[in-house]
Amino acid sequence: MTRTLRIGDQVVLDRERLAGLFEAIRKLGYVVHGPILSDGAIVLGPIESDRDLPIGWRDRQDAGTYRLERREDDAVFGYAVGPHSWKRLLFPPKRSLWRAEREGARFHLLPIVEDTPKLALFGVRPCEMAAIRVQDRVLANGQYQDSNYASRRRQAFVVVADCHEPGGGCFCASLGTGPTEQGEGWDLAMTEILQGRHRFLVRAGSSKGLDVLRALPWTETSPADLQAAERQRQRALRRMGRRMNPEGAKELLYQAASDNHWDEIAQRCLMCGNCTMACPTCFCVTVVDRTSLDGSQTERERVWDSCFSLEFSYIHGGSVRFSPYARYRHWMTHKLASWQDQFGTMGCVGCGRCIVWCPVGIDITEELETFRSRVGGNREAVR
Ligand code: SF4
Ligand code: SF4
Repeated sequence: MTRTLRIGDQVVLDRERLAGLFEAIRKLGYVVHGPILSDGAIVLGPIESDRDLPIGWRDRQDAGTYRLERREDDAVFGYAVGPHSWKRLLFPPKRSLWRAEREGARFHLLPIVEDTPKLALFGVRPCEMAAIRVQDRVLANGQYQDSNYASRRRQAFVVVADCHEPGGGCFCASLGTGPTEQGEGWDLAMTEILQGRHRFLVRAGSSKGLDVLRALPWTETSPADLQAAERQRQRALRRMGRRMNPEGAKELLYQAASDNHWDEIAQRCLMCGNCTMACPTCFCVTVVDRTSLDGSQTERERVWDSCFSLEFSYIHGGSVRFSPYARYRHWMTHKLASWQDQFGTMGCVGCGRCIVWCPVGIDITEELETFRSRVGGNREAVR
């Protein structure tokens, strides 16, 4: 007789049972999204079964570069993170706020059907789970709640996958957000073990996760399983591409507000906003109105925006962050300093996306260290 599983118990699921996990999740009415191969990258998309996963692929990443390569094994989670983050599912890039239609000389509002699918997020990395917790604070539990985010998040079933293949841009270990899951807010957490028999260590973090896990043909973990998982964790820690020292980052960046190094970064920065689009915690939005050419219909949409766009800081009379240095300074200072004042946490989880997907390879870890080395030294005031 098998024992009754409890939340937190770690058990083994053989690789060939992974299809059963998808079935069990889908049976509960979830639409599963996870990592897939598309256009030369590992992105997020709907998945039907384990066959849709990027099996046997790894990503090579560094500042401004990203390449996929074949692995020499059939690892399911043998990559770091791709350009997409889960915010595109919990906080979609575009959302309709209202629509109206002309009727003679008047307009009437059309109903908006709020799209809040029951999503299963499969293969969430620990750093990404930390980012979801950051967005929860801002969008679900903060002063100004986003009802659509809160509803999507409440319904979501989250499967975390510990990271054993960090990329060149990754620095989660130095921020305590990875490479293994240590926090809350997920339903199942998996550790893939490639050594010996291909298998996963799985544990439930919620009653929903426990129901799914109990329905699967799990077996008990052995000391060898736990040792193999720990060896992988140590290897991942050694292979972490970068590190960030968060110590005193807030005070440091506030002190550096007038440092002329902001101007040096701004000379390289293209103001493209890639870093903010790829970042799993950035949440800036704007609203746009669209009207049909014949003027019969109009719609107001909320769309992702970026603090790098000139229009984002436009108030009556002009933009308050007109210069590139002011926009980069705002982004980095918000991420690492003022976010702490607002939300009690940093806005960075160390996923490395802003470094990898920056076309000119600007590195937030390197820039922070540059400011650290300059504080107290030569800091000529800029405009
Ligand atoms: S600031 Fe960069 S490294 Fe930090 S969470 Fe955002 S994208 Fe990831
Ligand atoms: S830091 Fe890089 S990704 Fe971000 S706006 Fe500047 S050039 Fe674009």
